Amino acid sequence: MVQRYKRLEAGSVDPENVKKYREKLKYWEDKRKKTLKEVEKLNKNSYNEAVKYVPFDTVEECEEYARRFVGSGYSPTFKNEIVYKGISIEHANEVNEALYNIYRDYDLSKLNGIRTISPTSLQGKKVFKDGADAVAAYNPVEHGIFLNKDILKNAETLSAYNRRSDEAWKLVMQNIDNLSGSQLDLALTYQRAGRALVGDGSVSDYITHEMGHHVQWEALDATTNNAIGRNMSTYAPKISGYANSSNGEYIAESFVAHVKGETELIDPVFSSFLENKTVSSAKILKPGESLEFAKRGTSSFETIILPKDEYAHVMSEIATNLTVEQSNHAVFKKCIGNYVYTVENNGFGNYRIIGKKIIK
Ligand SMILES: [Zn+2]
Repeated sequence: MVQRYKRLEAGSVDPENVKKYREKLKYWEDKRKKTLKEVEKLNKNSYNEAVKYVPFDTVEECEEYARRFVGSGYSPTFKNEIVYKGISIEHANEVNEALYNIYRDYDLSKLNGIRTISPTSLQGKKVFKDGADAVAAYNPVEHGIFLNKDILKNAETLSAYNRRSDEAWKLVMQNIDNLSGSQLDLALTYQRAGRALVGDGSVSDYITHEMGHHVQWEALDATTNNAIGRNMSTYAPKISGYANSSNGEYIAESFVAHVKGETELIDPVFSSFLENKTVSSAKILKPGESLEFAKRGTSSFETIILPKDEYAHVMSEIATNLTVEQSNHAVFKKCIGNYVYTVENNGFGNYRIIGKKIIK
């Protein structure tokens, strides 16, 4: 349509006609722009929809679902089980969502279990040492995560815990002039970082921190670990106060920063290590599972039948030049030769061409 009105406008001498065709041209151009925007939005929404965790109604269902994050490694404590007993359904879903997002985006080995524990129980006192209260704790020997029942009981108990942490922060900052020696050094480190933790007090961020310990114990090789350790004094002060407390907390906090997209703060060595661990969502989403959501957005688009040679060329270009970003999307656009192709990504190297436009 646009081409037609452009030609008509150019071919007209009557000023009335020129005006008329110009208006028509504008109408069609606006319409085309709007459609393109809508398609883009649809693609984005369908992708977001496709890779999103869908909450469950009961704690038992959450436990059942979380089994996918648990392997069969030796663990007398965790027994390869998920036990969410004692925490709210909202928090159980949040734990699941955090794990879902991490396993979707990073290629990590499975845990040996997750279980709630009371910090005042005999075992709980050992897990949360010296009365140091934490929302969760990672067990490096058995590769499992303990969840603090008292804090994750409900939204109020978690808020109260976060409030206590905020107050402790304020108290130290207000009294910084009265501190000396190592206490002052520590307080200054926190002050310079501007925050105690990278996480924002959400269950998700606390779990991500524990998964940072899983990365440290399960994924990091000695060479990378040493290389990262050597630069701790450069990067830890920028990440968070807590990142300065030990090599382990430094790595855990760096991982949270990476998950939250604060990649500029962390050691590029660790960053590129994690980038090599990122996975295409197509790998973890079984066909017919969540990708079905994605296709809902584009299933109405007809397949563009390309001539054989062109099809072969396009497929080989996709196979060799697909970016990680593109491979993570249910729908992506790729410029090949003089055209922009819109491709529906069905995972496992299955692609369907649903759009082709000449580059102007
Ligand atoms: Zn930690």
